[in-house]
Amino acid sequence: MSAIFTDICSNYIMSYRIGSGVDFHQLEEGKELWLGGVHIPHSKGAVGHSDADVLLHAICDALLGALSLGDIGKHFPNTDESYKGIDSKILLQRSYELVAAKGYHIINIDSTVCLENPKIMKFVPAMQEAIAAILKITIEDISIKATTTETMGFAGREEGLVAYATVLISK
Ligand SMILES: [Zn+2]
Repeated sequence: MSAIFTDICSNYIMSYRIGSGVDFHQLEEGKELWLGGVHIPHSKGAVGHSDADVLLHAICDALLGALSLGDIGKHFPNTDESYKGIDSKILLQRSYELVAAKGYHIINIDSTVCLENPKIMKFVPAMQEAIAAILKITIEDISIKATTTETMGFAGREEGLVAYATVLISK
């Protein structure tokens, strides 16, 4: 028993890393709302240098954080005009490439979006598809939850929204 265990350990030395990310954006009338790589019809949208996709930004930060590679602002600075209005799926792709370049793949992602309106659960399958295609995982590996702050604070007043993400990677 112990000999088998030793053999397995010597042949498959696994390395696991965990990362977390959080992102905030203001909401403004007339802007487009992008969440998880999907356009959500709504009267307000998020304000930012890119398309302001709060969920994809939180996942980018979790991926970068898992390998201590800094944060999204370091890799894609909002002072760089080339990132103005950029589709955040491109930022997620580049963040993934940094992780893949170090030999890691993604095990799973858990995330939560916090906003008062609109209700986003019907858009979650499309978000999972968009994210899975970029990160080369299945939709079962991507959890996207939604919550409100029960009308309290900036999210409750619909002045902004927040996303949190946790990712586990392995090689
Ligand atoms: Zn952001």
